[in-house]
Amino acid sequence: MALIITDECINCDVCEPECPNQAIYMGAEIYQIDPHKCTECVGHFEEPQCVQVCPVACIPVHPLWVEDQATLWQKYRRLQLETKKLQSTDAGHLLPD
Ligand code: SF4
Ligand code: SF4
Repeated sequence: MALIITDECINCDVCEPECPNQAIYMGAEIYQIDPHKCTECVGHFEEPQCVQVCPVACIPVHPLWVEDQATLWQKYRRLQLETKKLQSTDAGHLLPD
């Protein structure tokens, strides 16, 4: 499953830097979670880090993104691969001609 930030969010800013997948971003009015990037912290931590730090407990499970552990691990591995590709592309720009 992915998590979702509800409209009880008070924009306190503490969750965004805690996300290991850079899934949290500022939306039009409140912070939001990209469900394609949220693994519920699977692959990184035992517990969802955003939930741990949120002072108003406004980050429940997304009702439309029900995923089992195997799917979350697949998502984690896909994100890792994408990060590696980005890093190798960035490194390529630094190579001399
Ligand atoms: S559960 Fe983990 S991966 Fe998902 S948004 Fe929260 S901190 Fe990010
Ligand atoms: S920690 Fe909770 S209240 Fe603070 S920005 Fe994140 S979702 Fe909103």
